[in-house]
Amino acid sequence: MKAQPKASHFVDGAYLEDKAGAAIEVIYPATGEVIAVVHEATPAVVEAALASATRAQGAWAALRPVERARILRRAADLIRERNPDLARLETLDTGKPVQETLVADWPSGADALEYFAGLAPTITGETIPLGRDFVYTIREALGVCVGIGAWNYPSQIACWKSAPALALGNAMVFKPSEVTPLGALQLAEIYIEAGLPPGLFNVVQGRGAVGGALVTDPRVAKVSLTGSVPTGQKVYAAAAAGVRHVTMELGGKSPLVVFDDASVEDAVGAAMLGNFYSAGQVCSNGTRVFVQKGIKARFLKSLAARTAKITLGDPLDEATQMGPLVSAAQLDKVLGYIETAKAEGATLVCGGERAALNSGFYVQPTVFADVTDAMTLAREEVFGPVMAVLDFDTEDEAIARANATEFGLAAGVFTADMARAHRVVGQLQAGTTWINAYNLTPVEAPFGGAKSSGVGRENGHAAVEHYSQIKSVYVGMGPVDAPY
Ligand code: NAD
Repeated sequence: MKAQPKASHFVDGAYLEDKAGAAIEVIYPATGEVIAVVHEATPAVVEAALASATRAQGAWAALRPVERARILRRAADLIRERNPDLARLETLDTGKPVQETLVADWPSGADALEYFAGLAPTITGETIPLGRDFVYTIREALGVCVGIGAWNYPSQIACWKSAPALALGNAMVFKPSEVTPLGALQLAEIYIEAGLPPGLFNVVQGRGAVGGALVTDPRVAKVSLTGSVPTGQKVYAAAAAGVRHVTMELGGKSPLVVFDDASVEDAVGAAMLGNFYSAGQVCSNGTRVFVQKGIKARFLKSLAARTAKITLGDPLDEATQMGPLVSAAQLDKVLGYIETAKAEGATLVCGGERAALNSGFYVQPTVFADVTDAMTLAREEVFGPVMAVLDFDTEDEAIARANATEFGLAAGVFTADMARAHRVVGQLQAGTTWINAYNLTPVEAPFGGAKSSGVGRENGHAAVEHYSQIKSVYVGMGPVDAPY
């Protein structure tokens, strides 16, 4: 299996190679095979990317918004036309089953391009009357934005960051995760084919040091990171030194609270989606499932039965429901958390082992019950198919325990009592919440975290705030009344 791109980077409208950069092997997680090699960006590549973005941005921002929008819409159409091939490449890059990548990854990226294309021409300023004088406001682009991606939704992340950035007149230099470098290069090609002028969307490969070089460059106006909290703290601090705008989409340990009166089957289905989709490698997963004691037995019985039926296998087979984890390192980390949960006394309901499939990085879908708040499994982000079920008695107790974490990315509530649903969701400390649903993230809705899980929002009208700034223009209409 090979998925070698034409070159490692995409700069100023064309592929660019510089083999002086350290090699990064791209590994197909289902077999452990090396499917491509890319090279880390050298300082010369980083310079070329930033210089071309800086050169191109002014003319792009000066276009009519409908002209920018037309190009984004064309790019969205190209993504949809090529979705089967793009989904296959995403599967090779991440190990996620095509059953998912065909419907979730690039399609949600195309949604973002379409959405922000539609939104861009509607962005206007306001006029503020002041009697004789007045002020009007202009919403301007920020300039050159840096996007840094995680490996779990590499192409979706590249689209979710570049679509609002470009729609509002910015340029972007995007650094994918070194674990999944392939999808963003396809996006760069598609943008050029759709008519985007060269330099407005550049892709440079590399590890943290390349990200660090981008974040601290004086030409950069904004940094949008999707990654873990520790990386977010570093990148936020580095961006702060240059007083740059930031969007931080970071990790979570989100609660899903299931009350006795909920539909048990719906809640079980949502808990499974919120723990096993993408083999559990989703930032907003509901990894602390609080189940009210009256339905605990029924909930666990159904959960165990439905989990036992999940089909693990070749991610390129459309019948496969769960693929491997993204890397050997992630496999070790997740197996380590499983062993810790066993040692700390959680009750293993199902799974709990590596799944022996080829030489891929597979873990069985795993459920632990009787998890307590103090256990490592209830406190740290695992990023694998490992669900923790905790019991509770009262609503107030569930809210207090759900909020007792540094994270605040997402939260969910299942109940038939709508007054309670709104009351509880109103008190949960999280940026993205669901009532009787979980992990649905349509582009129309703002997405992001509270507390340590993030700053800023992606998607929805909210993203406009994070890729533009307001200029106030005071217009004096009469003589200047100076006292000297
Ligand atoms: P990570 O933090 O290890 O890396 C994220 C990116 O940051 C990578 O591209 C990496 O190369 C880069 N990076 C690392 N150090 C850097 C530095 N010092 N300066 C600049 N860039 C640096 O995260 P990961 O393991 O790739 O992804 C998993 C994490 O991402 C999880 O914590 C998950 O919750 C989070 N995530 C959050 C969201 C969200 O929208 N909130 C979405 C997906 C993933």
